Amino acid sequence: MDAEIIAVGSELLTPDHQDTNSLYLTGKLNEVGIEVRFKTIVGDDRERLATVLRSALGRSPLIILTGGLGPTEDDLNRAVVAEVLGRPLVEVPEILERIRARFALLGRPMSENNARQALIPQGAAWLENQNGTAPGIWLEHNHATLILLPGPPHEMAPIFDSQCLPRLERLSAGERIQTRVIKVAGLPESEVDRRLAPIYQRYQNPTTTILATPGGIEVHFRARAATAQQAEALAGLLADQAEAELGEHVFSSRGESLEEVVGMYLVMKQKTLATAESCTGGLLSERLTRVPGSSNFYLGGAVCYSNELKTSLAGVSPAILEAHGAVSKPVAQALAEGIRRRASASIGLGITGIAGPGGGTNEKPVGLTFIALADERGTEIREFRFPGDRQRVRWLASQFALEMLRRRARGRSKL
Ligand code: AMP
Ligand code: MG
Repeated sequence: MDAEIIAVGSELLTPDHQDTNSLYLTGKLNEVGIEVRFKTIVGDDRERLATVLRSALGRSPLIILTGGLGPTEDDLNRAVVAEVLGRPLVEVPEILERIRARFALLGRPMSENNARQALIPQGAAWLENQNGTAPGIWLEHNHATLILLPGPPHEMAPIFDSQCLPRLERLSAGERIQTRVIKVAGLPESEVDRRLAPIYQRYQNPTTTILATPGGIEVHFRARAATAQQAEALAGLLADQAEAELGEHVFSSRGESLEEVVGMYLVMKQKTLATAESCTGGLLSERLTRVPGSSNFYLGGAVCYSNELKTSLAGVSPAILEAHGAVSKPVAQALAEGIRRRASASIGLGITGIAGPGGGTNEKPVGLTFIALADERGTEIREFRFPGDRQRVRWLASQFALEMLRRRARGRSKL
């Protein structure tokens, strides 16, 4: 079954408010095998809402509206739905009683506006709201099901979970969706697509999506089947073929982050790690310590931004700094080896670079970064020219440092 979501509220068309309800609803709908095909955000405007609703009725068997059920003039969903469907609004005495009781309980007088919330389109069922005054509304019209939910997420979610989801699950019996995500490092998006297309083009189901994210290239395989197990098996079948094609570029086959994978390998190999970061200012350290249990492999790190601290914290000799400059291969090497020695770690990692926007020269442009990894077998030093602004250069530096760690920890010495 396919669904459509209409999020109503003028605030959702400003830069200050996000439509999070539709993300929540999409997650829940997918769990019971329902795909969301369209999503619209529309302001509190009678005509525009009516237009959106008419198109939805022409194409979607399940339409969920959120917002616009409040007691004020600009809350129009009830009236517009009634008008578009050609059904009068009728007052439900039981809802009115509940609203009155709720106000009495809070010791506040009920304004007459609130009585509006007791109106529902004729023939509809209402859905009790334990966290607010506006009930939800469930409505069957011709071949479509419409669900109206209040806008505040803490009211919308419990109504949907307890009173809508079980019914929808029965309506969509025999359809389940499962997604497998693999993550890829060290290949551009176009190359991933070129290599995977001959595999995924053979299948309508699962559908394949390739996404470039800050944490690597992600490939999503989304399968539909009668049961969750069958859908998972279908998604797995394609994911396994993709993994075989991309080989060691795949760093995660169950959606794990790069830092989680690095942690897993280091724990497995019983290795410890210490870091000395200059241009990333602790970003690598922050990412490593996001992983629960990181204390099992990560000893800690130094943020050594100034030359003095590169010397006092990581033991980089002033002569090397003087001869080559702080952003240089020998300094990266000295950071990695120095922090490894001082922390008595199995692996030391050093990063130095020019994050910009200032500080670049012809010889050493913004984005130039050196990353060194030292262990008992020696020190590997790599030079990068990262594109983008300061944030991106710093992120990419942390990303490639993690990728070097992953390769070393799983047993490959070179990228
Ligand atoms: P309403 O039911 O239109 O009176 O909505 C009341 C409040 O719910 C608004 O002030 C918003 O902050 C919040 N809200 C409405 N729609 C959404 C949405 N789609 N996502 C997240 N919050 C929402
Ligand atoms: Mg609103």
